[in-house]
Amino acid sequence: MSQGHLFIISAASGAGKTSLVRAMLAQDPVLKLSVSHTTRAPRPGEEDGIHYHFASETEFMAILEAGGFLESAHVHGARYGTAQSEVEASLAGGRDVILEIDWQGAQQIRKLFPQATSIFILPPSIEALAHRLNSRGQDSEEVIARRLAAAREEMRHVHEFDYVTINDIFDVALQDLIAIVRAQRLQLARQMACHAPLIQSLT
Ligand code: 5GP
Repeated sequence: MSQGHLFIISAASGAGKTSLVRAMLAQDPVLKLSVSHTTRAPRPGEEDGIHYHFASETEFMAILEAGGFLESAHVHGARYGTAQSEVEASLAGGRDVILEIDWQGAQQIRKLFPQATSIFILPPSIEALAHRLNSRGQDSEEVIARRLAAAREEMRHVHEFDYVTINDIFDVALQDLIAIVRAQRLQLARQMACHAPLIQSLT
């Protein structure tokens, strides 16, 4: 069995990243989403262990200090981190792992896993992004204004990513993401890992 591949997916808050990733996972059983740890409070409908591992500041810091995170960052006033154990076990088991993380985490992961594929999802316009942040209906105006400013900051890092997709039409953006994953799986090194006897017998 070949080792899985790491995909980093980042976006400005409100660009539709979570829905797109959910749709990718629903149709690709080899993909596995890494569930992050966070110190932020759960939003309505969010479940511990499914959307995030919700942790207190003390619990989070204990994992951080023990070296248990591959990356971690402060985002919108809360801490977020990717647990090393979860990701490495999935990769070793041949699963392709998606990290839904911010640009700071993406920078840290690239240093550790230079072969990781990074994808940035952009909104079709700043107006569409503001509209999506407003229509989420779960956060106060102050929080939304802060998120819009943070979104601008996040989008400034688009140049650091391997691929960019614009989430104007959901299904088009979804097909873009599926195509990126598929192209990665078709790279020679990975095909050699999966089909070495065939390739050797034909060459
Ligand atoms: P939210 O709280 O809205 O779910 O996520 C806020 C931001 O934190 C998003 O940009 C999301 O990608 C980012 N984020 C979520 N999990 C992680 C993580 O484990 N590490 C880092 N660096 N960012 C994360």
